[in-house]
Amino acid sequence: MSRRSAAEDLARGLRVTPFVAGRWQPESTQDTFDVVDPVTERPLVTVTEADAATVDKAVVSARDALDDGEWGRMDGAARGQLLLAFAQLIEDRAEDFADLESLDVGKPGIEGRVIDLPQTVATFRHYAGWADKLTGQSIPTPGYQGRRTLSYTVRQPVGVVAAITPWNSPTMIGSWKVAPALAAGCTVVLKPPEDAPLTSLLLAQLAEEAGFPAGVFNVVPGRGATTGNTLVEHPGVDKISFTGSPETGRIVAAAAARNFRPTTLELGGKSPQIVFADADLDAAAAGVALGIFANQGEVCAAGSRILVARTIHDEFVERLVAHAAKIVLGDPFDDGTTMGALINAEQRERVLRYVQTGRDEGARLVTGGGRPERRGYFVEPTLFADASPEMTIAREEIFGPVGTILAFDDDHQAVAIANDSNYALAATLWTTDLSRAHTVAARVRAGAVAVNGWSPLDARLPWGGSKLSGLGRELGWAGIEANTELKTITVIL
Ligand code: NAD
Repeated sequence: MSRRSAAEDLARGLRVTPFVAGRWQPESTQDTFDVVDPVTERPLVTVTEADAATVDKAVVSARDALDDGEWGRMDGAARGQLLLAFAQLIEDRAEDFADLESLDVGKPGIEGRVIDLPQTVATFRHYAGWADKLTGQSIPTPGYQGRRTLSYTVRQPVGVVAAITPWNSPTMIGSWKVAPALAAGCTVVLKPPEDAPLTSLLLAQLAEEAGFPAGVFNVVPGRGATTGNTLVEHPGVDKISFTGSPETGRIVAAAAARNFRPTTLELGGKSPQIVFADADLDAAAAGVALGIFANQGEVCAAGSRILVARTIHDEFVERLVAHAAKIVLGDPFDDGTTMGALINAEQRERVLRYVQTGRDEGARLVTGGGRPERRGYFVEPTLFADASPEMTIAREEIFGPVGTILAFDDDHQAVAIANDSNYALAATLWTTDLSRAHTVAARVRAGAVAVNGWSPLDARLPWGGSKLSGLGRELGWAGIEANTELKTITVIL
């Protein structure tokens, strides 16, 4: 049996209903949605959507697990053990996760195997280590009405966390939300993306196997406007952790503001990759190509603005075009495929519209720009040169394999162009000059800057942006802070 057929069988064998209060909910004949394979354009499975009553049940069970269940009383070390067991179960099924994500998202299997799954497992293990180390402080105070005082803080779980994920890397981004929340002692209601819910359903199955008490981890598949909206409006949710587009982020933030709920928003990007004249051009060309073409460019941190020093501009464009030419578009299950399909027809059309806009506004198309003659939502790796900072393709997030190359004359101008953006998520600098690396890294506005490489993904490194790229940070200690509250206790002795 081919790897693709095996993956399709795996998808068809999954439980595809909401997992709530430790139980798989019954199938519905009314509230359902199809998950479509972006490569074959065929429906893979029909998933039962979590309706309002099911979302309510999930939030109530998550609250009960905190207030009345064994989870709320569980020692941090025991939570850590459960997270380690969960991580192991995920690692044991890493190939299945990677295959499901290829089917769901259209990304080459190698990316799931080398990036998404190892990062997911590492994130659960990282946070397992934090679970028994969440301490407060003892703070000296001068006394109260002549009596001595003992003041201290305790770090407590923020409560029921609504986690909402996008379709580009649902497994890994899900782990960024679920792992710190569970380590902190919170309970979670995860709403996976309607375009790619399969790995989150497998995650629910493994959470059940790992032995999390009922209500601690719930998965409510469904569409954004229905299930997602019900979840963010639910009064029982204490914190929202959202990754997706700025447009939806605004809706989520407005719902959160109505109830003064803490919110982490990981939104889009238009990240600059700045190539200085002193860069190692071989390494820079390979790195910049990866930065824009990995995961079909459907990456929040995609380096979609490629800023190149004018003195090396033409040579660098040639090198980048050569890298693009080596990309093999195809079925993620075929050996040799290095770029898969976009998530759906709408996304493909959106990307192609941006390509047309680039042409209309006068940028020079140097490679790609079309869709291959084959089934599936594919778009060729595309590069525009001679772009200017005010062009639409230099300003708006395309979320596809389209890079916009802009020339600059000096460091000051490079920084000015980089910062002239509504987004501020990530940036990459290519230089061999140590002083320039640190100076520019300090001046570029971004949540993460990488020098001579693309931002490494690592559970220890905080991740997030500002402006339209979002609010707050995930991962590392920041992930624990985002899922806990400090309580101050003063005892008058
Ligand atoms: P999206 O905003 O369309 O959807 C994200 C999630 O929100 C989905 O689960 C969707 O069902 C849900 N949703 C939609 N409407 C909702 C509503 N009214 N209430 C509650 N939930 C709702 O985004 P997408 O198209 O899935 O993902 C692409 C976007 O995500 C891009 O802008 C990308 O840059 C961003 N992204 C950011 C990061 C990051 O870490 N900063 C990572 C990955 C993706």
